[in-house]
Amino acid sequence: RSRAQSNHSRSGLLCEIKSSIRNEPFSDHYSLIPGKELGRGKFAVVRKCVERSTGREYAAKFMRKRRKGQDCRTEIIHEIAVLELAASCQRVVNLHEVYELPSEMVLVLEFAAGGEIFNQCVAERDEAFKEEDVKRLLRQILEGIAFLHKNNVVHLDLKPQNILLTRNEPLGDIKIVDFGLSRMVSNNQEIREIMGTPEYVAPEVLNYEPISTATDMWSIGVLAYVMLTGISPFLGDDKQETFLNISQINISYAEEELERLDKAAIHFIKSLLIKEPQDRATAEECLKHQWLQMQEKNSAEELMKQKSASTSIPEPVSAEISSQQRKE
Ligand code: ADP
Ligand code: MG
Repeated sequence: RSRAQSNHSRSGLLCEIKSSIRNEPFSDHYSLIPGKELGRGKFAVVRKCVERSTGREYAAKFMRKRRKGQDCRTEIIHEIAVLELAASCQRVVNLHEVYELPSEMVLVLEFAAGGEIFNQCVAERDEAFKEEDVKRLLRQILEGIAFLHKNNVVHLDLKPQNILLTRNEPLGDIKIVDFGLSRMVSNNQEIREIMGTPEYVAPEVLNYEPISTATDMWSIGVLAYVMLTGISPFLGDDKQETFLNISQINISYAEEELERLDKAAIHFIKSLLIKEPQDRATAEECLKHQWLQMQEKNSAEELMKQKSASTSIPEPVSAEISSQQRKE
């Protein structure tokens, strides 16, 4: 019905999907791995499973159709439609199949074995990302976001819990997940007041001003800061304080964790954490930023210095100590 469709585009939700929704019992086709809960949000549980016919591993996202007494099937259909739209993008998690159960929908997703980048963001500095890792992973995140923005999708919930890794040690590639808050921004209709996670939310969201692709770019600025330092730059003691920090752009660029970095890293972050959405760098511009260019611009001398600095604490020994300590 055309009326329903125009309603959906006004709210920025897609309402048509290509995947066929399977109504057979999920357990006929997949076995859930006992005790393997990969994550959970407010309305979803994600569990590791194995496809019986192929033996392949997947992540099954079980989503309740009713939330707080409201039918949310439309929102789930939108999430599926966005995953389909991004099927050709390597940086977005792949959707394998969809099942519908009496009270849930199940999205069978490509399994990202490395888990959330959140874990490395909050790790002790010696286990955390190195600047070179952050540059590579951010480039990949930006490739995914550039693809989405080109297709008029804004994610609106970019944070370390929604960026996964294909593997750890060696560090793999990123997969963007969770399109539950994402919206279409094409039809020059204004979208306001969709609330992501306080720490990563842009000033315009707090002020009920129009949301755009620039809203994601703010979150990427926060993400870059957290990945490089382990510090959440706007986090206050409570939500109120966090919101105040964001709207005043109360951020410290004087942290010692930042001093160690290429100055271009700070320039990169500053090009995103700008109050006016139209003044922020776009994903395409970020990909061209000097900090993220591939070529090694360190002189050989600087590289030597870096090497000797990082080997001043002999790594194998410290690794051995920590694994021994763990055993004790
Ligand atoms: P929610 O909307 O509830 O936040 P998400 O899609 O973000 O749901 O999934 C919740 C968590 O489940 C993620 O933060 C992640 O830890 C885990 N997860 C989600 N998808 C996958 C996947 N494809 N592979 C591995 N883990 C996943
Ligand atoms: Mg999530």
